[in-house]
Amino acid sequence: MYVKFFRCFRCGETYLPKDVISLSVMRCEKCGSAIDAEYDYDLIRKEILSDSFRRDAPTHWKYWPFLPVSDLSSLVTLGEGATPLLTQPALMKLTGASHLYLKYEAQNPTGSFKDRGSSLEITKALEFKKKKVVLASTGNMGASIAAYAAFTGIACVVFVPDIAADAKIAQMRAHGADVRVIDGDYSVAMASAEDYVRTHGDSFLTGDYPWRCEGTKTVGFEILDQLYWKVPDYVIAPIGNGTLLWSLYEAFREMVCVGITERMPRIFGVQAENCNPVVRAWESNAATIEPVADPETIATAIACGNPIDGLAALRAMQDSDGMGISVSESDILEARDTLARHGILVEPSGAVAYAGAYKVRDALAGKTVVCIATGHGLKDMCGWL
Ligand SMILES: *Cc1c(COP(=O)(O)O)cnc(C)c1O
Repeated sequence: MYVKFFRCFRCGETYLPKDVISLSVMRCEKCGSAIDAEYDYDLIRKEILSDSFRRDAPTHWKYWPFLPVSDLSSLVTLGEGATPLLTQPALMKLTGASHLYLKYEAQNPTGSFKDRGSSLEITKALEFKKKKVVLASTGNMGASIAAYAAFTGIACVVFVPDIAADAKIAQMRAHGADVRVIDGDYSVAMASAEDYVRTHGDSFLTGDYPWRCEGTKTVGFEILDQLYWKVPDYVIAPIGNGTLLWSLYEAFREMVCVGITERMPRIFGVQAENCNPVVRAWESNAATIEPVADPETIATAIACGNPIDGLAALRAMQDSDGMGISVSESDILEARDTLARHGILVEPSGAVAYAGAYKVRDALAGKTVVCIATGHGLKDMCGWL
């Protein structure tokens, strides 16, 4: 494993990998903020990268040197990643971009990009010999972890806010998860999951903690790889907890760091107007995120009022010269229906990036743009049933 240490986002405190493992909640012990892995890129460059890395077909585990794993014989996989980068001429024309690609993450085993992080988290849970995983989820992460836990024979407890879509709860139960619907929003569910792990020493907390972010980076690596290492101008993604946006940033930064690409794309983060704490912080150039209580949006997968990786997502936009975009409920539904009518089925949150692209279409002329279509339409058919 090529991880040197973990560093706190807010106060800069560092932790050795062996010490991080003993934290029950993997956040900074001093200030409670998210922590982030740092790798020995010189070593990766020397030992791993060769021409075949550039040429081999993109798959999730191809990028293992950039993930905190050491024993490649015990990776847990359901075939996540290697999702298509779709281009559809009529959709492209609507946005005015010279090239528009949709990274169709619905094609992951449980229907969302969460499977990338789950494969790594469950790999770590097994490595630490845990028998049970616990998490808070608005739906997709719970469905994903429930599947990977069942696949490896470990128990799974999921705390979900009452806004979660029925099909997602059914998906968790189908895999045998102990689903506890909480009377409250995602933040309340998260506090319950963190309490649970503190009082149940045999359990392992999954969710938007450092392992997940590391696993999610492969979506960024695949985008570059699928474009034959030509860096797109803009990459547009929704922000819920902000983990996806930060993972994209890290993936693009690391490829520059090891010399495979020469520059960063600009990263645009999109939130629903009804729950846009990170976009508002970006607009006002604030250094902190002002939480939103009890958020309500049709895009339930991004209804995170107090995003764990909010500061990280903010930094991803600021450091990449990106942009924060808010979209209305009708923007989201229209985008979702437009995608569906062009053969691409996504849930409302899965259409948020495209809705953002459409909203700023005047800025896309002559640009190569990638939107992340994050989750499958079959998971939440609201308005279609
Ligand atoms: C989790 C999720 C998001 C938001 O990702 P974050 O990492 O929480 O920012 C967006 N869309 C879908 C479908 C999701 O499942």
